[in-house]
Amino acid sequence: MKIPSAASLKVIVPAITLAMLAAAVAEITPQSSTHRIAIAYETPTNPAHDRLYDLLVEARVLEQIQEILSPFRLPKPLPISIEGCDGESDARYLYSETRIKVCYEYLDEIWKDVPTETTTAGVTPIDAIVGPLADVFFHEFGHALIDLHQIPVLGREEYAADTMSAMLMLLLAKDEARRLIMGAAYWYTDDLKTAVTLKPTDFSSVHGTPHQRFFNLLCIAYGANQEMFGDLVGKGYLPEERAEDCKSEFQQAAHAFNLLIRPHIDQSLARQVFGKRWMPDVTIRPPHLPKPGSGTPDNSALSTN
Ligand SMILES: [Zn+2]
Repeated sequence: MKIPSAASLKVIVPAITLAMLAAAVAEITPQSSTHRIAIAYETPTNPAHDRLYDLLVEARVLEQIQEILSPFRLPKPLPISIEGCDGESDARYLYSETRIKVCYEYLDEIWKDVPTETTTAGVTPIDAIVGPLADVFFHEFGHALIDLHQIPVLGREEYAADTMSAMLMLLLAKDEARRLIMGAAYWYTDDLKTAVTLKPTDFSSVHGTPHQRFFNLLCIAYGANQEMFGDLVGKGYLPEERAEDCKSEFQQAAHAFNLLIRPHIDQSLARQVFGKRWMPDVTIRPPHLPKPGSGTPDNSALSTN
């Protein structure tokens, strides 16, 4: 057996160390790439969701979400599924499994909450579906981005995920952003007509209350475009005291978005994808899914994860 000389060992040892170091670095910072979203409509476990399943597949909801999120560079695949959750109305990013799941139960609530006519705030039936749908997927995607890219968050992650969703909606819908934002806001408060009674412990949630989330969303939107959303202040949907600081709230959010999120977006692909018109025709009447029984919709305890 040939014994390596001390001189050759000096060459081999650093080479091995560097190779090991390179492998370790590759493990810590894997190559990020675009088109990392995988989608699945799981078969509903509750037959009551069969009709909803058909409607979601027909509307290509997940395919559209997949394309919209394709310009984001991610270090690993991100599955997004719609599935039955044994009666629990839920939507969440599962950190341990690196995936997003949205329950049929949750989407069923959105669909059944749709008004039959355009509301006094100007929310059309189709916008009352598209807004909350976009908001829930974008919110959960915000959690995924924070996790996958280890994005620092000072404050509550739930608020950061809400802001991420609002920024993405504004970016995506552009001159039709009002439809998307108001549709999403409708889900939180049913046109601000729902009176709420909350227990002190309701304020302990990691999420804002539905009304806080409503005002935060309108504030970011108004801060982004005072012309498009200006009348919300006059009509009392956004109180003047809050509206005063919304421009700087938006600028702060835009600064964070540019610094922390934009580097993970393929700009050339984003121009193509975000440049498309994503909002469906405003006159579309979504098929009605009747609520079991009757009564006023109650979103007072509503929260997504
Ligand atoms: Zn959340």
